[in-house]
Order: sequence, then C-alpha cells, then structure tokens
Amino acid sequence: MPPRTTRVVCLVRRPDGEPALGDFAVEQRPLPPLSEGRLLVRNLYMSVDPSMRGRLESTEKHYTHNFTPGSPLDGRALGVVVESRCPSVPPGTFVRHQLGWREWAVLDLAETDAAGRIDPQLAPLPTWLGLLGQTGFTAYVGLTRIAEVRPGDTVFVSAAAGAVGSAAGQLARLLGAERVIGTAGGPDKCALLVKEFGYDAAADYRAEPVRDALARLAPDGIDVYFDNVGGEQLAAALHALRTGGRVALCGMMSQFGGASRSADINQLIQAVLKRLTLRGFIVRDHDDLRPEFESRVADWLRSGRITARETVTDGLDSAAGALLTLLDGGNVGKMLVRLADDPYHRA
Ligand code: NDP
Repeated sequence: MPPRTTRVVCLVRRPDGEPALGDFAVEQRPLPPLSEGRLLVRNLYMSVDPSMRGRLESTEKHYTHNFTPGSPLDGRALGVVVESRCPSVPPGTFVRHQLGWREWAVLDLAETDAAGRIDPQLAPLPTWLGLLGQTGFTAYVGLTRIAEVRPGDTVFVSAAAGAVGSAAGQLARLLGAERVIGTAGGPDKCALLVKEFGYDAAADYRAEPVRDALARLAPDGIDVYFDNVGGEQLAAALHALRTGGRVALCGMMSQFGGASRSADINQLIQAVLKRLTLRGFIVRDHDDLRPEFESRVADWLRSGRITARETVTDGLDSAAGALLTLLDGGNVGKMLVRLADDPYHRA
C-alpha cells in the first residue's frame, strides 16, 4: 500500500545567529494525491548545500525562495519511482528532483525540471548528486565559462576539500592548468587535497594567513581564483593575481552573518590596478553546458582520471545535523544524507 504521508524536515524558527538543531523538526505531512502526470518517488539520497543557510533567513534572497517557519525544507534529491501516473516514466526509474528533506515525494511532471532521469549503471547513485550533479557542474561552469581556465594557468581554489572545491581542483588540472593550489581548514583536509584530489599544494587557512600562503606557494602569482568563501581569501587572491587574472565568484562561505565585509572590499583596488575580471555566476543559468559537462566528466570518471568523494550520514533524522556539520567544515567532498537502502551500494 503506497504511503499517504511522509516524514519531512520542517523549519521550526529562523536561526538566531548560527543555526541550531532546535531550529528544525521532523514532522509527518500528507502527500499530494497521485493524479495524472505525477510520480510517487522513494527518496534514496538528498543533497545538503551551503545555500540552505541563506534560505533560512528572511532578509536576503538566496538562489531561490526562502523557507518559512512551520514549512518543509526542500532541495536536490535522488530517488526511485515507486508508482507512476505517467506512462513514459515507469516504476523503477531513478530520478533527480528538488523535493529533498523528506522520505517520499510526489513529483508533478508538468512542472519544469520536476524530475530528470539518471542512469545508475553509468555511475554510483551518490555521484549523481555530487560530481555528476549540480556540484561538479558548478565547478565545470566556473572554470570553463566564467574563469576560462587555459593550459598553463596557475589556479587557486578555496574550500578545496568540499564538494565544489574537490571537483574544481581535479577539473582545473584536466582542463590544462599547470599548477593547482587549494586551501582548506585543518591539516587532514590539506593532506587529502594533495593525496586524493590532485592539488599540487595546499594551505590550511586556519593556521596561516592566506596571503602569506599564496606568496609561498605561488611566488609568481596566480591566473585564476575559484572563490568559494569570499572574505580574507578573496582579498588574498586579489593580491596574488597576475595582471589580467580572472576570478570566478562562486560562493561566500565566510560571509554568512556579514563577517568582515567592509575590510575586504577595500582590496578591490587590486582589480583596477591589475585589470582583473571578477565574475559571479549561478550555475542554473548555464544549463546549455550540461550535456558537454556530463559527457566529459562521465568519461573522466570511467577512465579513473577523476575521483568522486562524498560524506554520507544516514536517515532523515540526521539531516539537520548534516547541515550544521557542513557549515562547520565537517565534510569532505559532497555532503549527502542516505534516506533509504541504496540498491547499488556495496559496503
Ligand atoms: P562544501 O562542500 O565546500 O562545504 C562548505 C565548506 O566551506 C566547508 O566544508 C568548510 O570547509 C568551508 N567553510 C565553512 N566556513 C568557512 C569559512 N568561514 N571560511 C572558509 N571556508 C569555510 O560546499 P559546496 O561545495 O556545496 O559549496 C561550495 C561553495 O559553492 C559555497 O560557497 C556555495 O554557496 C557555492 N555554490 C555556488 C553555486 C552557484 O551556482 N554559484 C552552486 C553550488 C554551490 P573547511 O573545513 O575547509 O573550512
């Protein structure tokens, strides 16, 4: 008997400062009726993203709609169709969609991008939310279209052990970068950057000012900065960039709560002096690149030239904690929650 309700993570109240577990609750909510054109999906994995942090606030609009206290959260997820009222998507199909933070979802195919099929034979299911998903695509768009990485470039990536950062370092190399430098929090992550993600050098931004680290690791300067964190690291990169350097402004992990905005903006004079290009982007504006991205990255995955890495917690009850862990730097690679048994997972 298909379920009529689902467990879902709801926002109880907007965070007062840093988010806390008490700001979230798992509640039982009714599922919409399975009318014509709809799919009942058992979610298997959900993505945990930094953008959730901004969406908990009322003031600033982040990417898409902000959450309202008392309402369910949503976000990227992947599941299997259990019942279908759409003949072209039979039960057993694996789909990616936007109704995460819940165990079951009813997807309406009349809505744009409600469900994109994925092929579990091509790559493990978690990879479809990570390296082959929005995460890897963000790194690809930032490097190819925004920063226009060229053979011979020296590329610097911040939050380099995270989901986008671990993809960006590896992709920069495959796109021809000569030297790839990353920053991350702590010695263990820095070791991983070099050992697992192919970075030439890594610096722990908590142990050393990034400006000093870049002077040491890239004494001749950098050509490209892939910015995931803003703040002090962006200011340091502006100093290290060569004339004509390019910056892909991807995200600002250090700026939640408005920290250090005024001090770092003074460094923008560097953009004038060195004729820099700084370009912000939102990945969903670049969907025309997706087929090219999927084909190239799937090839690199198959041939073992790129590694997908995830940090996975288990069960919907762990989801709010997974978000807090991510914001605190407790993840390596893509942060995911497994919501049900993965038929392809081998322990
Ligand atoms: P990550 O997996 O990189 O997780 C976030 C990481 O940020 C943490 O692991 C932590 O790593 C680091 N971090 C947290 N606080 C700080 C801080 N104060 N200073 C420096 N680093 C910090 O997340 P994603 O890969 O999903 O996202 C990376 C960035 O990409 C984010 O800024 C996100 O908003 C952005 N993004 C942008 C998109 C776009 O379309 N523009 C789309 C998707 C993501 P550590 O331990 O190293 O500190």
